[in-house]
Amino acid sequence: MLEFVHRYDVDSEILTQAVVNYARERLRLNPVPLDGTHSRAELTTAVGETITPDGIGGVEALRIFDELLSRACISVDHPRNLSFIPAAPTKAAILFDLVVGASSVYAGSWLEGAGAVHAENQALRWLSDLAGFPPEAGGVFVQGGTIGNLSALVAARYRMQTRGGAAPAGGRPTVWRIACGAEAHSSVEAAARVMGAELLVVPADAEGRLTGPALAHALDTADPDVRDSVFAVVATAGTTQFGIVDDIRGIVDVAHERDLWAHVDGAYGLAALAAESVRHLFAGTADADSFIVDPHKWLFAPFDACALIYREPALARAAHAQKAGYLEVLETADDWNPADYAIGLSRRARGLPFWFSLATHGTRAYGAAVEKSLATARAAADQIRALPYVELVREPQLSVVVLRRLNWTPENYYEWTEKLLRAGFAFVTPTVHEGETVTRFAIVNPCTEPADIAAILGSMA
Ligand SMILES: *Cc1c(COP(=O)(O)O)cnc(C)c1O
Repeated sequence: MLEFVHRYDVDSEILTQAVVNYARERLRLNPVPLDGTHSRAELTTAVGETITPDGIGGVEALRIFDELLSRACISVDHPRNLSFIPAAPTKAAILFDLVVGASSVYAGSWLEGAGAVHAENQALRWLSDLAGFPPEAGGVFVQGGTIGNLSALVAARYRMQTRGGAAPAGGRPTVWRIACGAEAHSSVEAAARVMGAELLVVPADAEGRLTGPALAHALDTADPDVRDSVFAVVATAGTTQFGIVDDIRGIVDVAHERDLWAHVDGAYGLAALAAESVRHLFAGTADADSFIVDPHKWLFAPFDACALIYREPALARAAHAQKAGYLEVLETADDWNPADYAIGLSRRARGLPFWFSLATHGTRAYGAAVEKSLATARAAADQIRALPYVELVREPQLSVVVLRRLNWTPENYYEWTEKLLRAGFAFVTPTVHEGETVTRFAIVNPCTEPADIAAILGSMA
């Protein structure tokens, strides 16, 4: 019945050619088209029904994707796409994503995916070494920073719930809490909600950083039942809104003095561990209990991949390993099963595109590529300082630059964003800071040049 899966007939040869040609052409585009977004009504009319009892055929489905669907998706890798956190995968990483798909690998267990897991672990090792984690550290590539943060925090709470010792005077907490800075990523709050936990939000300093002293003050002056309910502290290594790095050294020390798990959320920013000019900003990460960094943000990998790394992987394994009769066979050997270290069981070898690109280009090229975006961000800040009609909202620390256009209303920002996108020129969205609408350049693409920034700033005149 399903023989078509393996049939190598003329049709499948034609489809292979068509798909490979499509991928080849997309990779050759320079620059890629920015494309745009379309309404559901427009797509319904243009695309028609694609799911039919007899199938429309792969060549026709590919045509619809090429001519209609792909054009209704904004290219994240366009050099003037500076919205949210875009992406800039290398050609090597994109090509290998095709290979991963073609290889039918199950990467949840060592038994089934040993070769893939071995290579993923080498890539994790590079990140772990950059962070200064010990040799026994390890982890897993998960879908994104949201699942990475959640998985680390689940491990942290499990450790707190299961360790021995006397219960606090007021008894075991009924509600657990995570301490984090006011500018921590929304996924930390989302994780708390999923876990039925709450946040202890600590005010940031004037630069938007959570500091060790502020954390210590918040913990030490909280009600005893609140203080005793905190099981983890999250330091942000590069906030999403501003790219500001918390006082990681101070936060990790304060957490450990109180026997709390210290997690570093570096989904965007920890990529800059590869860049010598800013590596010092991340001091203290080496002593954390876990950290995350998303290769799909600033490490030139395609969606989706977040590296989640634990100092003591056994603590995470205790929290996450699933038990079932049909899985027993995986537990008999002392193997490294990636599924034991995060939420989720079945997994794609999603770290392999990143591994392949890293193996292809070498780590030095990664350092240079990250430095390039940092230099472009510094150039952007200089340009903004030199123009009379814009100003920096804060001095950038990494590669996110937030600016206001003097005398613009929120409507002005929204109209400007739409105009640039409609022209296929740039994608730069507004953001809200302390109730004020401003805009933001997130620069993670080494192909983004100072001239691109100048052209975008020129469009705000
Ligand atoms: C993007 C981001 C996240 C969430 O990562 P996803 O991959 O989008 O799930 C978490 N924390 C920070 C600091 C981020 O920038």
